[in-house]
Amino acid sequence: ADTLAYAKSKIRDIPDFPSPGILFKDITPLLADPRAFHIVLDSIAERFIGSHVDAVVGVEARGFIFGGALAARLNASFVPARKPGKLPAKSDRVSYKTEYSVAELEMHVGSIPQGARVLVVDDVLATGGTAKAAAELVTTQGGNVVAFAFVIELGFLGGRRVLEPSRIESVMAY
Ligand code: 5GP
Repeated sequence: ADTLAYAKSKIRDIPDFPSPGILFKDITPLLADPRAFHIVLDSIAERFIGSHVDAVVGVEARGFIFGGALAARLNASFVPARKPGKLPAKSDRVSYKTEYSVAELEMHVGSIPQGARVLVVDDVLATGGTAKAAAELVTTQGGNVVAFAFVIELGFLGGRRVLEPSRIESVMAY
């Protein structure tokens, strides 16, 4: 628990980003600290010991950082879910509503084998819309989302409600 407190101490609050009134959780100090980064990766990886994961889906962009490292630790595939227009090959696309606008995520067609057990990873769970959209892409391709994992859960935004009854793991909560 003191190790998690150490990792949490590396999260920096940035007021009024990306827009006035928003208090943004900046993870870059945590990434810059090898011990804190390691603590977070271990904390997530150990929760999936014994639960077979075939693929980790990371959400652009910060979900790539944690998702890629986790895939390597879990001996799983890494599959990127990207903002529109970034992936080079034929892709599935899903639209979802954010607080202020409409956003889209894409995944290469054929990224997820039929019946694959998939872990969806992102840095922050806020309203849950982004993670839910990533899960939709997984389901569209015939995969099963066995869990969602986040470094930070902003509990007051209710994202957990949006993703339930799926399993949801978060390392730190606010
Ligand atoms: P949601 O779709 O759950 O409302 O928002 C989650 C998405 O927005 C994630 O992809 C996450 O990276 C980003 N996000 C929202 N708020 C924050 C924040 O305070 N800090 C960081 N690092 N990302 C955030």
